[in-house]
Amino acid sequence: MRYVLLRDDDTNALTPVECLEQLYRPFLQRGLPVNLAVIPNVSTTAKMRDGRAEGFLLEAGASAPRHVPIGGNPELVNYLLENDGFELLQHGFQHDLFEFDSDDRQEVELRMECGTRLFLQAGLTRPRTFVAPYDRFSRTSLRLAAQRFPVVSSGWYELRRIPRAWWPRYIYKKLLGAAHWRAEGSLLLSHPGCLLSARRPRAGILKEVKQTIEARQVTVLVTHWWEYFPNGHPDAEFIQQLHLVAEHLEHDPDVKVIPFSELLEHTCQLN
Ligand SMILES: [Zn+2]
Repeated sequence: MRYVLLRDDDTNALTPVECLEQLYRPFLQRGLPVNLAVIPNVSTTAKMRDGRAEGFLLEAGASAPRHVPIGGNPELVNYLLENDGFELLQHGFQHDLFEFDSDDRQEVELRMECGTRLFLQAGLTRPRTFVAPYDRFSRTSLRLAAQRFPVVSSGWYELRRIPRAWWPRYIYKKLLGAAHWRAEGSLLLSHPGCLLSARRPRAGILKEVKQTIEARQVTVLVTHWWEYFPNGHPDAEFIQQLHLVAEHLEHDPDVKVIPFSELLEHTCQLN
């Protein structure tokens, strides 16, 4: 059996419920769980690397407060609670650019703690998986994430961003060619890049997803809800590709789609 985890990043207090509903109802209807990496206290002035406003700020007007906690959108919180096919992961704190690329232990701890507290204050369950904005960790933040969360999901791991005490383990993982590994009791997952991206040729998306899943025991598929709604309007062609993936995942007898928390129950070889 192969395991697939769909990770959708950047849900926040400004995310319209309709967007998630349009994208993920076909998954939920098929019993395919969807993992949403949720920003606990979204910064309404967050910028991308190139200085443009983040795409997940679709509905942030000029009068929006500087930060909005996830509990500030009761409609969204209720929607997430009512649909138990969603599993929520903690996606940083405010999604400031590279906010976890810091070796200031106190600051990193504060961001992680405050983020988790905002989940709980909103009535959401305590997140057990951590996703850093842009998958960017420092040595300090990676170690703290592993100590606090049973699962860390990232793109890849670089030697210079890994605590020295983990180096032998990391080198062993590299020698094995393993995508996933463990440290501090936490499961550290890698993903093969954003295959479900609006920037990729539409026609090749499903094929690439299939090939990637076939080559691995555990695959994390990363996507971003807001990419399906450029300027707030649905991109029907791209949404169709996502739904074709749902159809494929449902019908492949060798694939099981799972939430991140289920990984903790499996003792399977992760590679
Ligand atoms: Zn993000």
